[in-house]
Amino acid sequence: MNAVETARKQNLLDLDREGMERFFTDFLGEKRYRAHQVMKWIYHRHITDFEEMTDIGKVLRGKLEASAEVRVPEVQFEKPSTDGTHKWLLGMDARNAIEMVFIPDKGRGTLCVSSQVGCALNCQFCSTATQGFNRNLSVAEIIGQVWVAGRHLGNVPHRQRKLTNVVMMGMGEPLMNYDNVVRAMRIMRDDLGYGLANKRVTLSTAGVVPMIDRLAEESDVSLAVSLHAPDDALRTELVPLNKKYPIAELLEACKRYALRRKGTSVTFEYTLMKGVNDLPEHARQLARLMKRFDNAVQMKDAAKVNLIPFNPFPGTRYERSDETVVRDFQTLLLEAQVLTMVRRTRGGDIDAACGQLKGQVTDRTRRQDDFRQKIAVRMNKHEAA
Ligand code: SAH
Repeated sequence: MNAVETARKQNLLDLDREGMERFFTDFLGEKRYRAHQVMKWIYHRHITDFEEMTDIGKVLRGKLEASAEVRVPEVQFEKPSTDGTHKWLLGMDARNAIEMVFIPDKGRGTLCVSSQVGCALNCQFCSTATQGFNRNLSVAEIIGQVWVAGRHLGNVPHRQRKLTNVVMMGMGEPLMNYDNVVRAMRIMRDDLGYGLANKRVTLSTAGVVPMIDRLAEESDVSLAVSLHAPDDALRTELVPLNKKYPIAELLEACKRYALRRKGTSVTFEYTLMKGVNDLPEHARQLARLMKRFDNAVQMKDAAKVNLIPFNPFPGTRYERSDETVVRDFQTLLLEAQVLTMVRRTRGGDIDAACGQLKGQVTDRTRRQDDFRQKIAVRMNKHEAA
């Protein structure tokens, strides 16, 4: 198949159920249920070749062959960790790749998915920021990440499922790629897709206030907000987006989100950096903010805090807080009746911990081949160890 042919074919991974139905009825002149059959082949059995879709007649298979394709991300490298964590480097196009990680835990399996190649927000402690922003991922490229993991895990919906949760916490700011992210999350939750419960799909944002409100109208997923500081001066330093949407406005939007989805909480992520945002006074200030949030939503534990010990990466000026500091910080919050968890570091031996996922981004400052080589060396080093 040449490039021109590829370009005009509809990648079925770009379509949610509604889009698939429309494609089958309006474009192919077929019955609606055919769309459902094909979705099951794609997402339940991880089949991409129309010839293998045996309950589809030959004529329709021919029509599909001519006008559509199921194009999934290319696995460039993959690396299991000793603790069951699994990392992939996925090619998105000839020039761009992203990392993805699967983290199994007691009774659950969480996949960390990216929404953009690079990121434009420039959070000071995030390794993605150092790569700059290249482009948004398409729906196919977002749901395609879940597809790759689903195939690897032999995931079968409605039976014993290994992939139980998806967090939009990889590269990028999901609310800056709103339409594609929302559509991909719809496929994750659709029974014809991955059938995940709403609360098991989490969107994590640095705080794009208007888009949080839009999400509240249109979606029902869990919301996580990257707070990282209890006051505006410090937060603006760490998360420059705070200048545009300061903490009070952000918390108001979170409150509206929580109130719309009665009975569900919002998770506030707080990456702990030594001497920067990990002092007892920060914990006390954070506790006050969180209690005020619970009161505003009129629900106990409306705010959940997720403490993430900072994961260093080459060239960063920040350091991870000491373990005792992390524990003391948590204790202060717990004493103030704020539900607080500390995220365990997983996949540390394969650089798969939170905030460490990298990509391969073409920009003017870095030759992509050098970068690809570096990732290969890094992965091989772990292989040898
Ligand atoms: N843009 C979104 C999602 C991507 S980051 C957001 O900001 O929420 C997912 C989480 O990892 C965020 O809470 C982010 O602040 C955190 N993170 C980023 N870099 C990190 C690092 N080096 N160590 C620990 N956590 C980090």
